[in-house]
Amino acid sequence: MQYNSYGSSRKTIVTKFGGSSLASPEQFRKVKDILAMDPARIYVVPSAPGKRFSGDDKVTDLLYACQRLARDGQSFDEPFENIRSRFLSIRDELGLKVKIEDELDQICRNIAAGADADYAASRGEYLNGMLLADYLSWRFMDAAKVIFFNEDGTFNSEKTNVVMMALLADGIPTVVPGFYGVRPDGTVHTFSRGGSDITGAIVSRAVRADTYENWTDVSGFLMADPRIVENPREISRITYAELRELSYMGATVLHEDAMFPVHKVGIPTIIRNTNFPEHPGTLISLTLPVEPIEPTITGIAGHKGFSVVALEKAMMNGEIGFGRRVLQIFEEYGISFEHMPSGIDSLSVVVSGEALAPCREAIVRRIAEEVAPDTLTIHDNMSIIATVGRGMVNNCGSAARVFSAMSRAGINVRMIDQGSSELSIIVGVDDADFEKTIQAIYAEFVG
Ligand code: ASP
Repeated sequence: MQYNSYGSSRKTIVTKFGGSSLASPEQFRKVKDILAMDPARIYVVPSAPGKRFSGDDKVTDLLYACQRLARDGQSFDEPFENIRSRFLSIRDELGLKVKIEDELDQICRNIAAGADADYAASRGEYLNGMLLADYLSWRFMDAAKVIFFNEDGTFNSEKTNVVMMALLADGIPTVVPGFYGVRPDGTVHTFSRGGSDITGAIVSRAVRADTYENWTDVSGFLMADPRIVENPREISRITYAELRELSYMGATVLHEDAMFPVHKVGIPTIIRNTNFPEHPGTLISLTLPVEPIEPTITGIAGHKGFSVVALEKAMMNGEIGFGRRVLQIFEEYGISFEHMPSGIDSLSVVVSGEALAPCREAIVRRIAEEVAPDTLTIHDNMSIIATVGRGMVNNCGSAARVFSAMSRAGINVRMIDQGSSELSIIVGVDDADFEKTIQAIYAEFVG
């Protein structure tokens, strides 16, 4: 076997396989075939076994359930037996030798003895990583040796990068389980749910991969939610900045925090489908040519259920600190604001309706005391929809097209906000118009 090493011109690809891609022996076989198709694929980050069919359990959920039951003094035999049989059936059907019975017994004892939720949940990736390494005859590297967290649970990026770089520098094909790492006291800590995506990005950065392939059960991103737009087009190429706008608005395939490690160093990510490996998927990169691009927009995403706190005050624009004082009140109540469109003498703060509900009265009172607006109105049940696209930059007709499409569909625009990046046009509409707005904009730009 030829090994890669830093400084060599050989291509290196890091692959991450999601839970459904490694849920059964059959899926393991597909993964092995995918890896064999390109010798540059020498690092694999697996998730825990996910659902094999709709209604099935994800191993991670079962592990959390075991830990909760144990904590509450109840028996966790049933979910644990389920976990045990999932792993043993993968091992036995693939004819593997790795002795995971001892590991399973140890995990069971640790959970019974009061192990915490992070430890319990992490064992899904740990065991799946061991199985996969055995199946591929690759090296297994426990993530607890290469992914470091600080005492407060934040990710220790520098230490991780240094240690991981050193340990993976030999270029030996390696399996690094996703989702977890270690705290300074030696205990296991996990990223938030779906965090194996982050591990994959971290490994990509450490080995200076040419590409980070994220294998899942969809063929990349769609231009709009298929529950709203029938058969939306696939996005073949998108920039990290565009994706950030779309995922902030609710489009999810990739864990949001997985973009940063690779984005920073300019490594492209590709979303690929394990069940349809011929499909090129969606390429996410730092920059892409702006022209020519067809369609002009890259995607549309949105959310319902916002509240808009709208303030008016004569001569507001001359009053230094007005916006800061208003935002500080939201901060005091732990509410983050989503948007803040403003006019000359008006300012609106868009927040989640759910977050606002419990402190609505108090916030209204505080705003009145603090900045004495002439009027204060709260509009509830608003949707925020972002039309995103690098092709809209310098394209002066885009905003007009969004608004004329909406007006033709009889939709009342309640709010407009064009980000200064010019990467998106954001509109606020009544929740009742949410779907209709997305359909109208999609039809205008895509047909
Ligand atoms: N298994 C973990 C979860 O279900 C992490 C992951 O799959 O990325 O959240």
